[in-house]
Amino acid sequence: MNNEDLWKAVLGEVELSLTKPQFITWFKDTFIVSNENGCVTIGVPNNFSKEWLENKFNNNIIKALRNYQEDIMEVKCSICPPQEKLKKNLDIGASNMETSSENQTINLKNKKPFTPQINFSQANNLNSRYTFDNFVVGENNELARAACYAVSQNPGTQYNPLFIYGDVGLGKTHLLQSIGNEIIKNDPDKKIIYISSESFTSELVDCIKNQTIDKFKNKYQQIDLLIIDDIQFISGKEKTQDIFFHIFNALYQLNKQIVMSSDRPPGEIQILEDRLRSRFEGGMITDIGNPDMETRVAILQTKMNERQFLLDDVIVKFVAENIKSNIRELEGALNKIIATFELNKITPTLEATKKILSSILVSKEKTSVTKKDIVQTITTFFEISKDDLLSISRKKNIALPRQITMFLFKKELKMSYPEIGEFFKRDHTTALYAFNKINNEIETDQRRKEELNNINSILFN
Ligand code: ADP
Ligand code: MG
Repeated sequence: MNNEDLWKAVLGEVELSLTKPQFITWFKDTFIVSNENGCVTIGVPNNFSKEWLENKFNNNIIKALRNYQEDIMEVKCSICPPQEKLKKNLDIGASNMETSSENQTINLKNKKPFTPQINFSQANNLNSRYTFDNFVVGENNELARAACYAVSQNPGTQYNPLFIYGDVGLGKTHLLQSIGNEIIKNDPDKKIIYISSESFTSELVDCIKNQTIDKFKNKYQQIDLLIIDDIQFISGKEKTQDIFFHIFNALYQLNKQIVMSSDRPPGEIQILEDRLRSRFEGGMITDIGNPDMETRVAILQTKMNERQFLLDDVIVKFVAENIKSNIRELEGALNKIIATFELNKITPTLEATKKILSSILVSKEKTSVTKKDIVQTITTFFEISKDDLLSISRKKNIALPRQITMFLFKKELKMSYPEIGEFFKRDHTTALYAFNKINNEIETDQRRKEELNNINSILFN
């Protein structure tokens, strides 16, 4: 394996353990400069990456390298500006870091090589690879998808602002970007900005420094659609919240659409001004939960089609059964499998797949509780029957265990509120209420906290 392939394979693994922004921050523009006598030197663009790679990721990198080359003993970093990389003509892992996972060149048996379609428009930050067409709809995301689609057809009318929340890797960015791409497709003149709240803040900080705040406000107040990803990061940033509040109001009054994503509902974002919280809550809020088995299989199939690489049904089933709570990881696992089969020129078998995924799966095993486990734990703990738990009784000794069950369904299984509602034959708002209530009580009521600790220790025993 040459250095380029080796580093691609390593990046493929490292990516699985990081969030996308982390991965891009630390691994963008990195490459192998030399690989001699068990010592690999990695070219990094700046001191910041160097420090992190040497201190925090050193072990991960060595471990990943050893999967492909057993004699690796040491990893060093050396600062190499990107021009040098070009000179060395080793252009890997950098140009399209956003889509790095797809970037591992796969050429399988006379199938056409996978060439990701990337068209990053600098002006609006939209990435054309995220569309409604290639978003797989399942129970976990159909409400969110429907809201996003409705917004893309009639921006600024019904659902304004639109607030989508859910755990990392479940498709929020994909949906947000799809809205932008769909609107641009229907009307190329629409002015759209997609930005993460972190970039929004840093742009703002620059403008404060350069005294160009008015320019900043003007720019944002003139657009038709503002998409802010991962809005939770404005928590505690007073100046950003203040300016955002003004931009929000200006756009809102002009019936311009605002879309936001977050890893939690507005009510749970700490240190968020009340006036902003109530703005966020004034529109449409929907969550994305964990995909069920069927959806996971459908997602794998879609991704395999995109890659023109077909795996046996048993392999697909194995992967979907074992990676449940993060679609980015699901995709990462698929990439890893494809890359390994390709690089080592072995035939895809279930046994080989298990081996390839073993390192990912070990770390996942311990957290696999099911709905049944939770129901059983709760009914035993509170000494009530399953029928009681599922009944409509409002008696406190039944209602509380039911609320705690709903809370655990959300927290541990990442089910969506509509899914939880359906399980209990209740409205999704009941599930939302139960989650918030218990979540709040854990913070404020010592007894409830201990109770939950005890339940958890039984559940995860
Ligand atoms: P989030 O922003 O919630 O962390 P992303 O939108 O970045 O998650 O999704 C992670 C990866 O999973 C992306 O590559 C995305 O395209 C893919 N993905 C997520 N949900 C779906 C889906 N329903 N169908 C197809 N791909 C999906
Ligand atoms: Mg995201």
